[in-house]
Amino acid sequence: MGISRRNFLKGSGLAAGTLAVTGKPAQAGVDSERLRIKGLQTSTTICPYCAVGCGMIVSRNYANGKIVNIEGDPDHPINRGALCSKGSALFQVANNERRLTKVQYRAAGSDKWEEKSWDWAMERIARLMKESRDRNFVHKETRDGREYVVNRNEGMAFLGAAALDNEECYLWGKFARAMGVSYLEHQARI
Ligand code: SF4
Repeated sequence: MGISRRNFLKGSGLAAGTLAVTGKPAQAGVDSERLRIKGLQTSTTICPYCAVGCGMIVSRNYANGKIVNIEGDPDHPINRGALCSKGSALFQVANNERRLTKVQYRAAGSDKWEEKSWDWAMERIARLMKESRDRNFVHKETRDGREYVVNRNEGMAFLGAAALDNEECYLWGKFARAMGVSYLEHQARI
C-alpha cells in the first residue's frame, strides 16, 4: 500500500520532534496524526496574499477558537506543502494584537477615529458609491458629430489586487462593469 506525501511528512515530522525532545526515536505504532492535532480542529484554506493560491492547513483550538498553527498543505497540487515567507508568516496576521477587527472611521476634518459597526460601514460605502455613480454617470457622448451611447461612470475607479483568485477577479470585473467603471486596474500593473 502506498504512503501519501502528507502522511509521510506527518510521520517524519513527529519522529524528528520525538527525537529532539526525548533523544529517542519515535516508537512504531504511535498515532502521529492524533498526537499532532490532539484537541485541535483542522481545516484547509488558501493563502490570501497572492494569486499563486497556495493551500494551507489551519489548526484551531476547539475550546476558544484560537488559531494555533498554519502550515502548507502537502496534499495541495499548487504548493505541495511549501509556502513562501509571506505565506509562512500568515499565522502572525491571524494572531496579532495590532490587528484591527472593528471598523474605524475618521470623519472629514476630524482628528479622531470612531468605532463603527460593519452594518454602518457597508451602508455608507454603498450609499456613497451610488451617489458618486449617479453624479458622474455619462450616458451619451458626441464625437465627430455622431452621438454614441457610452454608459460610463467617470467618478470611480476599481483596483484589484494579487490576492484575488480567478473567480474573485471575474466577480470584481463584473461588478465594476455593472457600476459603469472604465478605470479598472490591477495592482501588478501599477
Ligand atoms: S504569498 Fe506565498 S504562500 Fe501565499 S499564495 Fe503567494 S506564493 Fe503562496
